[in-house]
Amino acid sequence: MAANTEPLKNQADLLRRGMADLRAEDAELAGILDAEVTRQHHTLSLVSSSCAVTPGTLAASASALVNVTVEGTPGRRYHAGCENVDRVESLAIRRARELFGAQYAGVQSHSASNANAQVLAALLEPGDTLLGMAHDHGGHLTHGGPVAFTGAYYKVIRYGTTSDGLIDYDQVRQLALAHRPRIIICGATAYSRVIDFERFRAIADEAGAILLADISHIAGLVATGRHPSPIDAAHVTTTCTHKQLAGPRGGLILSGRDAHTKVPGLKSTFSRVLDQAVFPRMQGAPAVNMIAAKAAALGYAMSPAFDAWMERIRITADAVASAFQAYDYEVVGGRSENHTVLIRLRGGITGAIAESALECCGIIVNKNRVPGETRSSLVTSGLCIGTGSMAQRYIDPEGCRRVVDLVCRILDEVTPLGEQEYRLEPALQERFRIQVEALCAMYPITDYMEH
Ligand SMILES: *Cc1c(COP(=O)(O)O)cnc(C)c1O
Repeated sequence: MAANTEPLKNQADLLRRGMADLRAEDAELAGILDAEVTRQHHTLSLVSSSCAVTPGTLAASASALVNVTVEGTPGRRYHAGCENVDRVESLAIRRARELFGAQYAGVQSHSASNANAQVLAALLEPGDTLLGMAHDHGGHLTHGGPVAFTGAYYKVIRYGTTSDGLIDYDQVRQLALAHRPRIIICGATAYSRVIDFERFRAIADEAGAILLADISHIAGLVATGRHPSPIDAAHVTTTCTHKQLAGPRGGLILSGRDAHTKVPGLKSTFSRVLDQAVFPRMQGAPAVNMIAAKAAALGYAMSPAFDAWMERIRITADAVASAFQAYDYEVVGGRSENHTVLIRLRGGITGAIAESALECCGIIVNKNRVPGETRSSLVTSGLCIGTGSMAQRYIDPEGCRRVVDLVCRILDEVTPLGEQEYRLEPALQERFRIQVEALCAMYPITDYMEH
């Protein structure tokens, strides 16, 4: 590498020099990074977990804090040189508590999966019983999925949805009373309706269980009061920071009115157990640069611009759901009350085929299982659409209709040849691709913090 003796005095110097060095000295990697920016601008993402971080959040994640190794929590560290690290972590904690109205916030978890693992490892003994939402009904793998660690370490009981796609609370209660789980997990990955956290808590109390709410998918709607908050209803709440909080890859652990009460069966309070769950139990030094980015994202989440984005997410979801219904597609659960619209496919078109055919045309969307699913998770019979990215592009209801119109026309042109194989004329693909590009140009990704 060429010697460069310019001192790097601040964050802006670092970022400028970093980009210049990458371009000059690692053209291969710089090229891939640029290609990804181009891909994101020239495709339409309908992926329910996706959104773009703000440039400010991105810059915070690329800060000199990455050079600092610390363990412990602010004021109780095992290392020296922590003055700025302590300030940044305290800031992130303060913002997380304020945004969610929580008594306790832990900001060190590397992801929501880690946060869930940490909470479970702290509150359960191996072999304890866990009641979670089945993966094929919309639950997350870490809520007891057979291929995740939860399935291996705990005795897992699963609840699901009724045939119309709504959480079956009667089943939850019946299973909770029959199996007396140590913990009940609520929160979903692919669910379009409001989750009744109070009802879950009533069931947990009746069954003597702890309640964990995982709001990874709806954290922004919760933070802005567009979805009931689980913070006081659940004993513990987890979320990732990279879906609806437009933050870095990472997790949060939160607790409300139970934060300073004793964990049933243990001597310590929830807040104490949760701190120790992360370090020293499951994690070493946190990624402090990512904690800075979480602080940036949480700050943004308190702004009017974020509130307006959440408002658009809801409007967009309603517009997308009714546009699919106008094409006679079944919207699972009848409508959307959050950012997710779950579509049941038809005419032999599987989720795998739809996902692949749409991607060829520049529309990125995930296949998903639907109630009464008969196909495997790799094939499925549905699509799970989310409106976070569309709302960041300011796609209005008229634009939503055009997007859905395009999706439906593409699917109409697909001839399925099996569960994964299909035919879509290359000339048509090309034509659809141009129409997607035109929509991307009409609704560009901009710095959406403006206003
Ligand atoms: C996405 C998701 C997770 C996992 O988040 P990671 O941070 O990617 O591990 C956990 N729970 C739910 C409900 C999710 O939707």
